[in-house]
Amino acid sequence: MFSENYKKTGCIEVVCGSMFSGKTEELLRRLKRAQFAKQKIVIFKPTIDNRYSDVEVVSHDFHKITSTPISDPAEMLKVGPDVQVVGVDEAQFFDESLVDVCQQLANRGIRVIVAGLDTDFLGQPFGPMPRLMAVAEDVQKVHAICVRCGALANHSHRLSKSEDLVLLGEKNVYEPLCRDCYNAARAREEQEKSTPRLFEDQ
Ligand code: ZN
Repeated sequence: MFSENYKKTGCIEVVCGSMFSGKTEELLRRLKRAQFAKQKIVIFKPTIDNRYSDVEVVSHDFHKITSTPISDPAEMLKVGPDVQVVGVDEAQFFDESLVDVCQQLANRGIRVIVAGLDTDFLGQPFGPMPRLMAVAEDVQKVHAICVRCGALANHSHRLSKSEDLVLLGEKNVYEPLCRDCYNAARAREEQEKSTPRLFEDQ
């Protein structure tokens, strides 16, 4: 398991899954263990994600570690030579340059742990995540529980009608669904879209 490998070899670890799958919790768990091992850690997150706090990575169960919000992944390259572990949360919101930056950090001997959504609300690979997963030494998919049937969920179903790709996760905006329930929900939405609403204005 790469997360327990503390020798001085750089690597990239990816933790990914849907909304409410515990990605951030798993990222924080690994970072805290590195802290217990007296390793110097830093955490970055995109400036776009200011749901709870500008400087803290906060998971849904309110664990938190102070982080640095950045808009350009290249800023991560400025970490000091004493840094051994770099964490990145909400990585799906960064552009593709994140992949090269993570590679450069890992090549320096840094352990890079990246957490993010693997797919967007349409079920498509999200931002730099697919390429990160390809070049990573270790990928862990974590799962939420489908709110409709109790199976393992790997889809983030949007309850709002907005088509904006960046709509940050609160419990009333997304729900985790399994493949079957997600497909059923999407099919129903498509049907609603194509059915004229005769009495809409009354
Ligand atoms: Zn289900």
